[in-house]
Amino acid sequence: MSSLVSAQRNNTAFSDVEISEELIRRFDTSGPRYTSYPTADRFHNGFSALNYKQHIQQRQTITAPPPLSVYVHLPFCQSLCYFCACNKIITQDKSRFEQYLQYLQKELDLTSPLLGQARLTRQLHLGGGTPTFGDDASIDKLMGMLRNVFDFTYDAEMSVEIDPRTISHSRLKALADMGFNRTSFGVQDFDPKVQKAVNRVQPLEMVEDALESSKANGFNSINMDLIYGLPHQNLQTFETTLDHVVRLKPDRIALYNYAHLPHRFKAQRLIKAQDLPTAEDRLQIFMMATRRLIDAGYVFIGLDHFALPDDELSRAGQDGSLHRNFQGYTTRSECDMLGLGVSSISKIGRSYAQAPRSLKDYCAMLDHNELPIDKGYELSDDDVLRAEIIMTIMCSMSVNFEAIGQRYEIVFYEYFESELNRLQPYVEAGLISLDDNSLSVTRKGRLFVRAIGMEFDAYLGKPTGSTYSRLI
Ligand code: SF4
Repeated sequence: MSSLVSAQRNNTAFSDVEISEELIRRFDTSGPRYTSYPTADRFHNGFSALNYKQHIQQRQTITAPPPLSVYVHLPFCQSLCYFCACNKIITQDKSRFEQYLQYLQKELDLTSPLLGQARLTRQLHLGGGTPTFGDDASIDKLMGMLRNVFDFTYDAEMSVEIDPRTISHSRLKALADMGFNRTSFGVQDFDPKVQKAVNRVQPLEMVEDALESSKANGFNSINMDLIYGLPHQNLQTFETTLDHVVRLKPDRIALYNYAHLPHRFKAQRLIKAQDLPTAEDRLQIFMMATRRLIDAGYVFIGLDHFALPDDELSRAGQDGSLHRNFQGYTTRSECDMLGLGVSSISKIGRSYAQAPRSLKDYCAMLDHNELPIDKGYELSDDDVLRAEIIMTIMCSMSVNFEAIGQRYEIVFYEYFESELNRLQPYVEAGLISLDDNSLSVTRKGRLFVRAIGMEFDAYLGKPTGSTYSRLI
């Protein structure tokens, strides 16, 4: 098959574009997803709680400190999904959520004095794990704790990740009453055989009911996570899944590729390698899914995200305000990001700070009245410059050399001479266009933004403990 993606004409992302398998094979490589730059595997223990405090306090000294985006990691899940690479704890003991809230309160108590008056908050995201592992009273309590510290703006995005197996109409109403206006559903695949193989059985009717109830309860943006490359998936079964998805019409869709790394993620050892689709099949599934979603009217945002044209994410893509952080593509790029809970990551000014990944270590630090920071990173001038270029490529698809040059006081062509040379094969393949003053990712090149961004990553040649997933 020589041409696989050809999308409807009114979708500016992909109209009339043909992408061959040969092209994908040539430029598909392993690399970071760039939810940060430098990527989290470069964070180090030389960055301590003291550095983190200094960065927060420094932010208070500027005339108008940026608003906050707050992320809370809630790690508990009732059962194990075999594909999962998240930082989670499987338990049936509901009281652990309540104990965890006590530690979150300690963390808030230590963080709150550092914030001074700068508590204006434009985004909240509860992620996990399974945030809805906690009952309504516990989540309500958590919201009370957060409202005591942060001033949420009237138009704040308040989102919560939802496992459809843990939700009911009354729970969704309770979450809406608490102020949540966005949800994200983990669906992955609707095929019963695939669901069984990954130990996540959630019938179509269950998801449909949760989705309809979310809409009825006023949630104004609903995201659905899908995964391709799971055991027993094939073109036909995933096409059927997409038929259901398109009919249910979530506002946003994240279509992740499954990275089978059983040496890193113990849970994945429960997936039989022989049940996984071949590399060839994965590629076919990805191409079909991209085409199917675009044909259904979704805008391809970039990498693996799709959104309806009137969704804020699509509008942000159009007006250049699209942003990327640890939750993937987002809006509200002006915010500092404050993470709370085990393994959470904060980005304050020119720094990243991460809490310990182990719950035991996280609690131990708080028991000693220490801010739970295990590692982090202080960005150099070069990091800030490269971060801007990589994120601009991932979000806006074009880089203006003169504007960057003026802002960072560099001659772009000289500073990035070797990077621009390495990009020549992308120019020849029609994935980017380069002129005297700009780099633009072509519509054809949008599938390869990770690879294009990687050319500006100064750390890629250096050793890391991490294994990156393939681009496609
Ligand atoms: S995929 Fe979600 S629900 Fe399943 S184990 Fe991972 S964090 Fe828990």
